Amino acid sequence: MTSNHSAYPASNLTWQILNHANESNYAVGAYNCYNNDGIMAVIRAAERKRSAAIIQLFPWTLHFQGIEFVRYVVSAAHAASVPVAVHLDHCIKLEDVELALTLPFDSIMIDASTFDEEANIRHSKSVVERAQKLNITIEAEMGRIEGGEDGLPTVDMDSVMTRPKDAEIFVQQTGVHFLAPSFGNIHGGYPAGGPEGAWDLVRLTAIGKLVSDSTPLVLHGTHPVSDELFQKAIECGVRKINLNRTVRDDYTKFVAENAGSLELTTLKMQGVEIYAKSIERMMDILGSPGRY
Ligand SMILES: [Zn+2]
Repeated sequence: MTSNHSAYPASNLTWQILNHANESNYAVGAYNCYNNDGIMAVIRAAERKRSAAIIQLFPWTLHFQGIEFVRYVVSAAHAASVPVAVHLDHCIKLEDVELALTLPFDSIMIDASTFDEEANIRHSKSVVERAQKLNITIEAEMGRIEGGEDGLPTVDMDSVMTRPKDAEIFVQQTGVHFLAPSFGNIHGGYPAGGPEGAWDLVRLTAIGKLVSDSTPLVLHGTHPVSDELFQKAIECGVRKINLNRTVRDDYTKFVAENAGSLELTTLKMQGVEIYAKSIERMMDILGSPGRY
């Protein structure tokens, strides 16, 4: 990595992946991985489908698996024959942001959504300025996406959704590259009625019209979302779709049922294959195959 990134953000891999998707109206999955099986599954699926992909880690990985694991993930991803970026999801704590900026992530999501709006803008802007020097791009969340996800704080149902005009001002003032709006999407599962009942698609459409040409939108809270609703989100300008249990449940079930009877080598090979198949199925829904 050089210190001169005059073409930033066009020099950044996540930016390249999501802007390619923006130009051709499809979305790329950002797959939350917790272990090496997940990393292998994303890369294999991406190469077989000739699709871009984004591997997402949580700050949990920084602390539990450590920074050498992060370096392994980045080198494996960047060695793929198709574009595979590595992104840090929901970076909440300031010390985690500091640590992440010392690591070879392609992009980082700054989750300052528990701050008030002004503090969110100030914080996001200052991180964007520093990330530019490192050729890292930044995703930010506006409003508050509800629900618990692997250590995220759970908040009340009456929290704020993103106002379209505010989204436009937010991206102008902060310079963030990707925006995760809150429009009724919920982390960690939906109440009765599902996302069909919870999502405010009129709001998402309005946000997309104002910002998505220059700032691809990110969808959080996808467990579960129907194929049709994913298509609607893509029509609104969503280009990065965060996927966690949706592509991981079949793998988890297989491991749970077979860990006692299969050799670890066999368990791992078959487990990665099942995991990759789930990811490939999702790539087909998002329209990302055959682009590279
Ligand atoms: Zn999220």
